[in-house]
Amino acid sequence: MNYKKYNNLSFAERCEIRNVQDSMLQEHLQLLLRNSQFYKKLLKDIDIETISLENLHKLPTTSKQDLENHNSDFLICPNNDISEIVRSSGTSGHPTKIVYTKKDLERLKYNEHQALSNCEIRKSDTVLLTCTMDRCFIAGLAYFLGSQSIGASTIRNGANSLTSHLDLIQHLNPNVIIGVPSFLLKLAKFAEKESNPTLLGIEKLICIGEPLRLWENGTLRTTQLCNKIESAWGAKAFSTYASTEMVTAFCECRKQAGGHLIPELAIIEILDDDGTPVPPGTTGEITITPFHFEAMPILRYKTGDMATLIDTPCECGRNSVRISGISGRKYQMIKCKGTTFYPPAVNAVLDGMSCVKEYQLRVESNDLSDKVILAVALTESAKLAEVESALNAALRVKINIIEEDHRELSKKVFPVGARKPIRFTMR
Ligand SMILES: [Zn+2]
Repeated sequence: MNYKKYNNLSFAERCEIRNVQDSMLQEHLQLLLRNSQFYKKLLKDIDIETISLENLHKLPTTSKQDLENHNSDFLICPNNDISEIVRSSGTSGHPTKIVYTKKDLERLKYNEHQALSNCEIRKSDTVLLTCTMDRCFIAGLAYFLGSQSIGASTIRNGANSLTSHLDLIQHLNPNVIIGVPSFLLKLAKFAEKESNPTLLGIEKLICIGEPLRLWENGTLRTTQLCNKIESAWGAKAFSTYASTEMVTAFCECRKQAGGHLIPELAIIEILDDDGTPVPPGTTGEITITPFHFEAMPILRYKTGDMATLIDTPCECGRNSVRISGISGRKYQMIKCKGTTFYPPAVNAVLDGMSCVKEYQLRVESNDLSDKVILAVALTESAKLAEVESALNAALRVKINIIEEDHRELSKKVFPVGARKPIRFTMR
């Protein structure tokens, strides 16, 4: 199916979006049944023709574990057609192999073109990429292909030093930066030593890996981290979310109201712990069925990422559903003294406290109750009790907090070669 002819589907009426998705779903299911060893077995007793968006939940889901354990059974293209091989972090510490054909890379390019168009990246923009293009990651390549497809100029500086990024900003004048929010904050603080970052001409920050807006009490709340990077750079920040397996991005529009689904590329469902779809406004696990993936098509893939579906009309005019920022990993839920919480709840408190210079949450997993230690580096005048009571109020549980030297803690949070800051560890 030529999905590119549906490049304005986001703006169509909801019923039209549904009709197109239903027919894409049918085509996708037929493809799986014909060609995928994994799904031939899984779907053999199901009358595929009766399946639509309405009763999609009747079909089985696919887990990260399935993709790890039966990896080659997902591959439906001949080996000769494989164009790109990458790895995705696995659940057991072993990375999972994911492959793409040339057409899949074309799809990736289209996907990112659509995603970056949501936040109105244009041909006239110059985009600095601070995420890696190599080391078997797909995200950097996606941003590069998408920017190129739009016709913007790209500066590929990958996971380079702060000095190097600042030098490029000062001399090559990008007006857009793509990167991890806490890294962008670090870069702004570094730039402040020499000049005022708000005068460097940065207009947009495209953010990956950490949430900018979380769903709380029935509304989307902007995180402290987002406020900080926007004011540090004098720029607008837009969240984008995707994964290697689903090859489909959710990017915010100019209204900054959650990442829009690209409806001609995928279906999204949000599932509760029992695998039942939950309505918009309820947090659950993001589950994706990407269409038109030629090498390793998947069905109802459970990402392990927790978010909330938003289906209220968006002022940008798109009718595609949106998702909140990722509130946590399903499998990173922390159980502590009878209470459960996700690491972003801790980030939300600490990112808003100016006395906290750095922190890392360390969890030792245990069946009944996890052992939780929070290492913090504080400003000289700060009081540990202040941090304790703020966290206690937000998490409704008292966790052990220890103070560590700022320099030593920073080395643990930003180890050499890490793709994003490690503010949470679990073992
Ligand atoms: Zn919008």
